[in-house]
Amino acid sequence: MKTIIEPFRIKSVEPIHMTTPEQRQKMLEKARFNLFALRSKDVIIDLLTDSGTGAMSSEQWASIMRGDESYAGSPSFQRFEAAVQNLMPFEHIIPTHQGRAAEAILFSILAGIGKNIPSNTHFDTTRGNIESSGARAHDLVIAEGTDPNSLHPFKGNMDLKRLADYLDKHGQSVPCVMLTITNNAGGGQPVSLENIRAVAALAKSHGRPFIIDGCRFAENAYFIKQRESGQQGREIADIVRDCFSVADGMTMSAKKDGFANIGGWLALNDADLAEQARNKLIQTEGFPTYGGLAGRDLEAIAQGLTEIIDDDYLRYRIRTNEYIVERLDDMGIPVVKPAGGHAVFIDARQWLSHIPPLQYPGQAVAVGLYEIGGIRSCEIGTVMFGRQPDGSEIPAAMDLVRLAMPRRTYTQSHADYIVETCAELMESKDSLKGYRITKEPKIMRHFTSHFEKLA
Ligand SMILES: *Cc1c(COP(=O)(O)O)cnc(C)c1O
Repeated sequence: MKTIIEPFRIKSVEPIHMTTPEQRQKMLEKARFNLFALRSKDVIIDLLTDSGTGAMSSEQWASIMRGDESYAGSPSFQRFEAAVQNLMPFEHIIPTHQGRAAEAILFSILAGIGKNIPSNTHFDTTRGNIESSGARAHDLVIAEGTDPNSLHPFKGNMDLKRLADYLDKHGQSVPCVMLTITNNAGGGQPVSLENIRAVAALAKSHGRPFIIDGCRFAENAYFIKQRESGQQGREIADIVRDCFSVADGMTMSAKKDGFANIGGWLALNDADLAEQARNKLIQTEGFPTYGGLAGRDLEAIAQGLTEIIDDDYLRYRIRTNEYIVERLDDMGIPVVKPAGGHAVFIDARQWLSHIPPLQYPGQAVAVGLYEIGGIRSCEIGTVMFGRQPDGSEIPAAMDLVRLAMPRRTYTQSHADYIVETCAELMESKDSLKGYRITKEPKIMRHFTSHFEKLA
């Protein structure tokens, strides 16, 4: 069959509150054109993030009732630990309330002034946790990874030559080598199994621990199965095990490929590191058998991990993004290709070439998608990255708009609606105006800035 259907039936629904363009115009003005300031009920399709926004299965809801809330030694922890170890064969599994808490604990032990930590591309919370310790974070993704038009099948790969030079140059100041799968900040692009193994070998030959940021491990494994020679016909779970069996540890946000609304973990093989991490965990998150989570959350993650490695689910998920990217590409809307695992990225700088970067073409596209179709997306460009620590403002490397797909939440007709909204925006794109920021905080300005549309 050509039609790839959603591989689930719907048993419980959440109504979408429909709005008119006139109502949305008013809401935008009230929000000062900052989409983070909208109430979610005023959004028709919410593509702000894929983090913690997915739908849980009936089995996950059932497992929630099984949650055992004992302070110590809960069987829910044992189920959680077994489910993680089934896919990621690490000795020590340390639950946390989110991925960033796992990072904060890891880097409180490994990072610090004078340290240097490489990755393909550090996610922003990873970078934040490294840099706030006084260490430096470096991105060594392959050159194709930053070219929106390159069709390289594994644009998230680490540049092995640069990593080897980096390890030689920085020597003992490198406490670990990180690798993000898929590469979120690089557009959700995958890393090949061959590259994962090569990074592991390089780290090992330099005596450095190798830590995977595994937030989208199942999407990454699906890309490996589709695109890497010799991997077709294998079980996703086996590919996942191969990826993690060459690492010394991992950080994880269960809000991504844990299929949960909250949660995360830090996993390590080294007993001494794990003991330090657990001591820090007790200080900041909670006792080691619950971390920052309730027993029911641990159950939801344990069940989620058995569902996320399903071929049918992954085919539907990856295909949805490919479908939207193909349609937008056919229309002449510049998009990052090939489609990533969790989101579609529109290249707003190229599309709205009449709006200079310092007038935020990405914001103009994001606001336009909301005006026309009530779709909430996220500017990833000069609004997010343009303000420099010295107070000056420069264009970001790219002005992208991210349409992040929540898991198991939207259907084919929603995908068609997204495509139609983009087609409508295409009609009026030459009349779109840039923006000016009228109020902004000192850091992370994209969350709370006020905007004014230029005349
Ligand atoms: C989301 C994410 C994190 C942080 O996880 P949270 O649960 O949001 O704290 C870290 N790394 C990557 C690649 C992510 O996508």
